[in-house]
Amino acid sequence: MNARGTLPGHWIDGAWTGGRADEVSTNPSRPHEEIARFCVGTADEVDAAVAAARRASRPWSAAGGVARGRVLRRAAQVLEGRADELVALFVAEEGKTALEARGEVARAVETLHYNAARALASVGATFDAATDGVVAHVRRVPVGVVAAITPWNFPVAIPVWKLAPALAHGNTVVWKPSELVPATSTLLLQILAEAGLPDGALAMVLGDGTTGGHLIGHEGIDAASFTGSAATGQRILDIAGPRGIRLQLELGGHNPAIVFADADLAAAAEHVVAGAMLSTGQKCTATRRVLVAEKVHDELLDRIVDRAAALRVGDAAAATTDVGPLVSADALTRVRGAVARAEAQGATVCTGDAIPDGPGHLVAPTVLSVPSHDLDVCHEEVFGPVTAVLPVADDDAAFRLANDTTYGLSAAVHTRDPARIRRALDELEVGMLTVNGPTTGAEPHVPFGGVKGSSGPAGREMGEAARDFYTDTRTAYLDHRFGP
Ligand code: NAD
Repeated sequence: MNARGTLPGHWIDGAWTGGRADEVSTNPSRPHEEIARFCVGTADEVDAAVAAARRASRPWSAAGGVARGRVLRRAAQVLEGRADELVALFVAEEGKTALEARGEVARAVETLHYNAARALASVGATFDAATDGVVAHVRRVPVGVVAAITPWNFPVAIPVWKLAPALAHGNTVVWKPSELVPATSTLLLQILAEAGLPDGALAMVLGDGTTGGHLIGHEGIDAASFTGSAATGQRILDIAGPRGIRLQLELGGHNPAIVFADADLAAAAEHVVAGAMLSTGQKCTATRRVLVAEKVHDELLDRIVDRAAALRVGDAAAATTDVGPLVSADALTRVRGAVARAEAQGATVCTGDAIPDGPGHLVAPTVLSVPSHDLDVCHEEVFGPVTAVLPVADDDAAFRLANDTTYGLSAAVHTRDPARIRRALDELEVGMLTVNGPTTGAEPHVPFGGVKGSSGPAGREMGEAARDFYTDTRTAYLDHRFGP
């Protein structure tokens, strides 16, 4: 099955289906190059996918953790075996460098292995009940049919970190990937299907926000896991919230790095630039603000600027490229507009004003020196390789400004002082904190997510948090006088 050219359509009930492939995805490094033609899922197609998932729900749940774990382990093996093919497509369609894409695929393989093992973990616990001879047995049961809606910026890792735990715990899934990466999503689906998932257990409906809206509003889903922008998250909350379904929302971030005067400045600069610029800054956890103790501000700014300016921007497929293109022409317009607005509000562009050579949606890593935390760039998520550096008078100001955002996803602190580390652990309003490292990163066995405007009601994925989201508990009182 070809995952380039005209795509085979939606995967529903173990078969490809779909209408005219009128939509196109292109290569962000060479925008004139078409990657794939695809069709947009209709309400009827969403309906068919949900109905098939519902039919598959009981048999997949009844198959048991051992069988489900085997399928996920096989999926990890197939993914590893087809990694080169997937990486090449991913680089061409999303614009990550091969190094970054390879790292992401490797993480997806680990996530599948982790969840294959989780499928075998204990499914319940037993307690004494108040009545003599009766035990209370608490069993984990799947939630049912899960809708998964994913963004383009981690087109392999994010779908896998939703689909793998949902399937491991016995749910069936209808997945709506981003319209910017239909070919990468189709190949990932083929890989997962090749591992032996039964018909209906996993469906993929391609399409845009309208297709996503049909899915999120569908009466047949029991839970939804969404990753994307805060604006879309709010729309989803408005539709699904009142229906009371289980809802996981992973949204944007405005992640600060605080650099105290006692920090190792060379290491801090390296981590800030990696956190802000790699993956072309198109990460929810990217370092958007750098709050620096006045005493070391100028030296750190120089170091950050030198490192950022040394990054090579270009075609994602070139081995020499450190920073690939933005995902689309619209993204480029948004990022350039945000930088121009920051300048108009008083920021200085320390590096990044040159327009890189090349046909792609390229933007140079941009370091802004900002005079005040009131600038829009300190509050609005600019989804690109742009970071704002700001001096802070003392520790109180650093912590106050770090928390002065509607978001609360990740943060980093750079210091050698245990008291400052302790204060960061206590006071920073985030879901994830790095000490002397970048703001970015995610691992399958620990929770990922944020607080405040960065996450919805059930705001964590992966690790134990995924088990809690994708299962319900059922408590049964068993009278042992009549049997085991
Ligand atoms: P987006 O919100 O535009 O789209 C995300 C997905 O939602 C896509 O599949 C899209 O088709 C779908 N969608 C759009 N409108 C919809 C609607 N009304 N109903 C249902 N589905 C709809 O986001 P994006 O541009 O693809 O991704 C970038 C954003 O994602 C950034 O804000 C980034 O911070 C965020 N993000 C968050 C995390 C996290 O874990 N917190 C991780 C990665 C990305």
